[in-house]
Amino acid sequence: MLLENERTEVVRVLKEMQRLGLVVGTAGNVSVRVGDQVVISPSGMEYGEMEPADVGVHDLDGNPVDARYAPSSELPLHLSVYRATDAGAITHNHAPASTALSVVVDEVPATHYYSSMFGGPVRVAPYATFGSDELATNVADALKDRSGALMSNHGALTIGPTLAKAYNLLPYLEYICEVQLRAMAATAAPGTSIKVLSPELLAEAGSGLKNYGQSK
Ligand SMILES: [Zn+2]
Repeated sequence: MLLENERTEVVRVLKEMQRLGLVVGTAGNVSVRVGDQVVISPSGMEYGEMEPADVGVHDLDGNPVDARYAPSSELPLHLSVYRATDAGAITHNHAPASTALSVVVDEVPATHYYSSMFGGPVRVAPYATFGSDELATNVADALKDRSGALMSNHGALTIGPTLAKAYNLLPYLEYICEVQLRAMAATAAPGTSIKVLSPELLAEAGSGLKNYGQSK
């Protein structure tokens, strides 16, 4: 099967997203780019029943190369991000905290140092209809020098050199959005305000995180 490893990985990641509560129903899609071909999850299929052969391969213009089902309706979004960035993979979902925050702010303030994982404060791409070229352009702009973005009144998206790396960021994006929402709610109390990290402190955290973990 063409790109069997990538198709298998797409199914694995979708099931994991569902298990962790990062998707509502089948409202999540992931893709991997290999050269001028894109492996992307099919449209509206129950993840539990999905097999690698159900995941299609398309070219960068969206034409099917090897696909038994229609691709995710958000294929144009994925294709635009690949054209505008050097991403090797994309994950996208409609998780509650990132979606809720996307309707109130234009940028996720750097309240938690995990923002440094995304290259700085995560931007919110202005709303446009799903599947539209306008949305794709807005998201590509929001991703400039960033590995994640929110999509206003819609959801969240992460990119990375591999699907594992793009997917690894998704729970952290949901987490910093959840923290920000709770902090905003807490400032309803008199005399409280949100403390935001300076760009310098964020950059310092970013270089620390690069060296974090066990060296092998
Ligand atoms: Zn979406």
